[in-house]
Amino acid sequence: MTEQRGDGRRHAAEEETRAWAELVETARRSVADGLVVGTSGNVSVRVGETVLVTPSGVPYDRLTPDDVTGVDLAGRQVLGSLVPTSELPMHLAVYRTTAARAVVHTHAVHATAVSTLVDDLPLIHYMAAALGGPVRVAGYATYGTDRLAESMLRALDGRTGCLLQNHGTITHGATLAQAYDRTAQLEWMCRVWLTASSVPGLTPHLLTHEQLAEATERLSGYGQQTSSPSGGPPSGRV
Ligand SMILES: [Zn+2]
Repeated sequence: MTEQRGDGRRHAAEEETRAWAELVETARRSVADGLVVGTSGNVSVRVGETVLVTPSGVPYDRLTPDDVTGVDLAGRQVLGSLVPTSELPMHLAVYRTTAARAVVHTHAVHATAVSTLVDDLPLIHYMAAALGGPVRVAGYATYGTDRLAESMLRALDGRTGCLLQNHGTITHGATLAQAYDRTAQLEWMCRVWLTASSVPGLTPHLLTHEQLAEATERLSGYGQQTSSPSGGPPSGRV
């Protein structure tokens, strides 16, 4: 082995160690924040061609640096000896089809409740723009199956998160922090919709697709302009 290749491997190992620590921290935070009960969720992060992922059935407070669990994009175990999460097919499907570097899956209570009621999360709040648009519900399939991963991919088309019918949430992002924040926003929006729609005799107002499109534009940075270059109406309004 050349010295350069040795350096490359050492660098990759350091990156994996750092990413694993961040993954464990994110998994523990999901429990502390009430998004996950016990070991019902799972988290993964991509480092090069390796996907580090929470192992199946190990409480997050017991995970140590030695428990690092990793697979390649085909699902073959390349790091550690603990069995990876049973939801591996969903995580790998996201990495194979998007540029995502992190995936968070939970059974968060309000989001899971909403997943049993509708086919799309009603446009109750403009933060849907942070997930790429109206959030869809992926049709039900048994957990851990390729069929569930396929159903999820259809619901994720053009989005960074979706609900899984009678199951939970899945979001992805460029970092663990971003994927986690999207899950927290999704759960919050589901909670707002459930709260608003459960007031007897009243029906919540919903946003139009046009209103969401305006929010999307602002969130992507265009909204910082006070007027459009063509002299159109100012976009700085709240
Ligand atoms: Zn699950």
